[in-house]
Amino acid sequence: MTHVFHRQLNTTLPRAVSARGISITDADGKSYLDASGGAAVSCLGHAHPDVLAAMHEQIDRVAYAHTSFFTTDVAEELAADLIEHAPAGMSHAYFVSGGSEAVEAALKMARQYFVEIGQLQRRHFIARRQSYHGNTLGALAVGGNQWRRAQFAPLLMAVTHVSPCYEYRDRQPGETPEQYGARLVQELAGVIETLGADSVIAFVAETVVGATAGALTPVPGYLRGVRELCDRHGILLVLDEVMSGMGRTGTLHACEQEHVVPDLMTIAKGLGGGYQPIGAVLAQGRIVDTFARGSGLFQHGHTYIGHPVACAAALAVQRVIRRDGLLAAVRRQGQALTSRLQATFGDHPHVGDIRGRGLFQAIELVRDRADKTPFDAGLKLHARIKRQAMQCGLMVYPMGGTIDGQRGDHVLLAPPFIVTDGELDAIVERLARAVAGALEGLP
Ligand code: PLP
Repeated sequence: MTHVFHRQLNTTLPRAVSARGISITDADGKSYLDASGGAAVSCLGHAHPDVLAAMHEQIDRVAYAHTSFFTTDVAEELAADLIEHAPAGMSHAYFVSGGSEAVEAALKMARQYFVEIGQLQRRHFIARRQSYHGNTLGALAVGGNQWRRAQFAPLLMAVTHVSPCYEYRDRQPGETPEQYGARLVQELAGVIETLGADSVIAFVAETVVGATAGALTPVPGYLRGVRELCDRHGILLVLDEVMSGMGRTGTLHACEQEHVVPDLMTIAKGLGGGYQPIGAVLAQGRIVDTFARGSGLFQHGHTYIGHPVACAAALAVQRVIRRDGLLAAVRRQGQALTSRLQATFGDHPHVGDIRGRGLFQAIELVRDRADKTPFDAGLKLHARIKRQAMQCGLMVYPMGGTIDGQRGDHVLLAPPFIVTDGELDAIVERLARAVAGALEGLP
């Protein structure tokens, strides 16, 4: 009997009792390879001594100080560190406790920016159908995952959703990736025109889509086209890099590879690497200056923002990533993972696509490779794979997303940046067994 209110009420979860490197061990002594970093969180693996030491030191110094009274050295240092390595023009980091909070704060910052400059008529957000931005009501509203939204729909603010950039499913035969990207930008332009360009606050998108579709990378030029369109109409671009950012795709920020600079960017997960709950909004100087010269106040806040121990953990994680050259490791081990996935699943009759970037990759499962028909949603293939993987001692992040009524199952892999070749061998071998076990006996 458990008294913890877990998400799954009818499932008995194993109890994690220790965690080292890329493994977690349960109370029965069974060990699980953490091939998903939890939910793309654990970038340094577990029990990293430098991070633990930094947290201990901070607890001894100042464990907590409310930000309406104090700032702290560690919050200032972390913000300076993040801004030094942020995309051009970003001047400030606003700290929160996780991804959904970061998205909520970004939405409010975007709206308040227009209030401060007298454009009160701007009240629409545009986002994409195949996306996840968090489970709080504002973040859920901009998210496009129907399954997560359905029962809360009456509570959600109206957001207009456009097509995701989903090359495997939506690029037409004979269409180049660039033409496909341009078509998506055209669609967005049409929606902006229908809503009225001067009524739109921001376009919100994950740079690389994570949870709902499994490592969907944008086609070349697509996000640049979106950036130009937003600029033309004075609309802000909010990139959500809660999952895809902080090194996961091989550059610190995923948008660097798109040569796009957002107005606001949300980060979390890999920021603190799971050692503490922490997220942030990185903001362009122009936006923060407007607040500073105007009301002098961002009308928002939570009790634990800028938490010193969370900031200490995040600062240590970022320093280890740089000191140990882990962005290069992500690129190198990302290629090693791709080649192992290709070797194992490239000819698999039920793997339609292998995709992703860096250590953020996915396989998409289909009933029929030729016409890309997904498995019947009722079979819950993704849940079967997760169960089988846990039996094999493997943590992966399978999901079945809803895409315009069409459903597909995928498995997301996001191992820690310290993963070795031998561990990648074991991950892909166990995944192959889990997929085989899940498919066995399906009608
Ligand atoms: N945004 C993205 C892109 C995410 O993937 C997630 C979580 O998976 C969130 C926001 C929400 O983050 P959190 O679960 O920390 O609230």
